[in-house]
Amino acid sequence: MIMIDTHCHLYSAEFVADLDAVMERAQQEGVQQFYLPAIDSESLPGMLALESRFPKQCIAMMGLHPCYVKENYLEELAIVEDWLGKRKFAAIGEIGLDYYWDKTFATQQQHAFRIQLEWAIKYKLPIVIHTRNATQDTLNIINEYVGEGVHGIFHCFGGSYETALEIIQAGFYLGIGGVITYKKSGLAEVLEKIDLRHLVLETDGPYLSPVPFRGKRNESSYLKFIAAKLAEVKNVSIEEVAAITTANAQKIFGG
Ligand SMILES: [Zn+2]
Ligand SMILES: [Zn+2]
Repeated sequence: MIMIDTHCHLYSAEFVADLDAVMERAQQEGVQQFYLPAIDSESLPGMLALESRFPKQCIAMMGLHPCYVKENYLEELAIVEDWLGKRKFAAIGEIGLDYYWDKTFATQQQHAFRIQLEWAIKYKLPIVIHTRNATQDTLNIINEYVGEGVHGIFHCFGGSYETALEIIQAGFYLGIGGVITYKKSGLAEVLEKIDLRHLVLETDGPYLSPVPFRGKRNESSYLKFIAAKLAEVKNVSIEEVAAITTANAQKIFGG
């Protein structure tokens, strides 16, 4: 069984002390690739160092996270643009809109999102979207660019069935993480009605640990709990969940 963790921050401080053990546990559970979303310029050296340490397994994205769009966002974007011109990345991510913590820079977030969408079109790269309390604005912007071939993943999906359909309609996959194991989220009920061919797996480690580790540090070996819950919800084997979601991830990121 081969699985891909399509979204994990393994370069975070939370993993510094035991990264080798974290990687080994994940590989023992069949997790063979780890896609690393970028956050901001401060996090880039750690992310790129991790990628060069595990070049086949850890694959970097490039982008500016919406929560890190501040006064200096144009300088941050210049760094992203510079990297995009220098080498290949798996995707532009994570990018999008987040109004949950702070709406002060909502306009700048939208501007940064549009600029990065245009780079995705220019470099023909998939995008990995982070959206929180901003789904409609995110979809409105995405829909302006859909005709130009934008595609990718809405990571950490936790919305309604109607929202899921809108995302799929726009040509995107849903990134499914630990939230599927949280009873009150209602995500399991939504996913009963969504075909596996629209889904990919992610941990978003160190955040959003699945049950039975909810509240603890999340790591890529816990992808099995997410896959197992999805298998239960879809009434298929965990092997089938792994096979389909891995094929989906390979299609998005080009293997
Ligand atoms: Zn995110
Ligand atoms: Zn993330």
